[in-house]
Amino acid sequence: MKLLRYGPHGAEKPGLLDSEGFVRDLSAIIPDIAGQALTPEGMERLRTIDPDTLQRVDGAPQETLRLGACVGQIGKFICIGLNYADHAAEAGQPVPEEPIIFNKWTSAVCGPNDDIQIPRNSVKTDWEVELGVVIGKPGSYISESEAMDHVAGFCVINDVSERDFQLNRSGTWDKGKGCDTFGPTGPWLVTPDEIDDVNALDMWLDVDGKRMQDGSTSTLIFKVPHLISYCSQFMSLQSGDVISTGTPPGVGMGQKPPRYLRGGERVTLGIEGLGFQSSLVLASS
Ligand code: ZN
Repeated sequence: MKLLRYGPHGAEKPGLLDSEGFVRDLSAIIPDIAGQALTPEGMERLRTIDPDTLQRVDGAPQETLRLGACVGQIGKFICIGLNYADHAAEAGQPVPEEPIIFNKWTSAVCGPNDDIQIPRNSVKTDWEVELGVVIGKPGSYISESEAMDHVAGFCVINDVSERDFQLNRSGTWDKGKGCDTFGPTGPWLVTPDEIDDVNALDMWLDVDGKRMQDGSTSTLIFKVPHLISYCSQFMSLQSGDVISTGTPPGVGMGQKPPRYLRGGERVTLGIEGLGFQSSLVLASS
């Protein structure tokens, strides 16, 4: 299944993508792609529905029909830092011995084609294509062998980052990670049965048509089961929490010379089997 949320910002409705690429409305079945709907029981219920029995929504998704973030009411947006050895190298950082965890404030979450707003006083707004993991079954102290049972699905995330706020403004990285619009999420949540091997997905990101990131989840240092188990040692994971698993090399900070986003540019990114995002960058106001 490919689950999504469509409609105007703040008033999105739940839906699914049918085999012909149209959106089918789920709002008579569930209130949102969120919380309880994402548990194994909730997902099983959705799986029994014949999409042809659901109302088809007018418009082409991501073209004439806006999509919101593919998960609503995200409780925790957990990010993993420096989880690709070659990205750690371009960032001038050692490969971490344990996963680095930081936060993206949930007010940063937006849709896959929404504008990215460069924040006030920013000079180093950067991009990061990442595999997102959406938690379905809640739990704490989850074992690695059972970790995948806790996954509702996967999605594309752009972990938009302001490097000066992140690295030079004292304290943790969080100041540079949670600005409004810094969390495009989607277009859809793809259930694990549609993905052959989550550890072998090609991923890419272009700025104005120029390929900047070209990687694969095969080079993740800490794989998805380990990340779920690891995070759950420090917090309980809840249905609808999101873990963004880190970015491969090719971010703006790693270019020679470094190169950051400017108003009017377009960032497009995608992951094999999970769809793509395309966001216009707005200059700071
Ligand atoms: Zn990141």
